[in-house]
Amino acid sequence: MCIFCEIVAGNIPSTKVYEDDMILAFKDINPVAPVHTVIIPKLHIESANGVDDSNSKYVAHIFEKIPEIAKSQGIDSYRIINNCGEDAGQTVKHLHFHLVGGVKLDEKII
Ligand code: 5GP
Ligand code: ZN
Repeated sequence: MCIFCEIVAGNIPSTKVYEDDMILAFKDINPVAPVHTVIIPKLHIESANGVDDSNSKYVAHIFEKIPEIAKSQGIDSYRIINNCGEDAGQTVKHLHFHLVGGVKLDEKII
């Protein structure tokens, strides 16, 4: 099981921010901003490259819930980041979106 599947299963503790039957949001263990939440599908999808017809509803659901998750963290301006693959810095091979904010972010992303 991957580390995020272990978090979904409750085998690794996390500070949960939002949860429903399809997705989980929890605080990043190594935050880069005052708000840094990781949002994942409960279904194991390796990366953005693994999104297809069969599982895209999880991605849609994540984006439906992002405004609510952000609001619960006290922000309505934020950056959503997905790292896909090693060259992009993906370290956990389970699709996830970083919700980052709570501070004026630099305009540059690379
Ligand atoms: P990536 O670099 O793959 O885009 O992002 C993975 C993120 O997951 C990193 O920001 C890292 O800090 C976070 N992370 C890795 N392991 C854990 C963990 O066990 N718990 C939590 N809460 N975050 C984790
Ligand atoms: Zn997984």
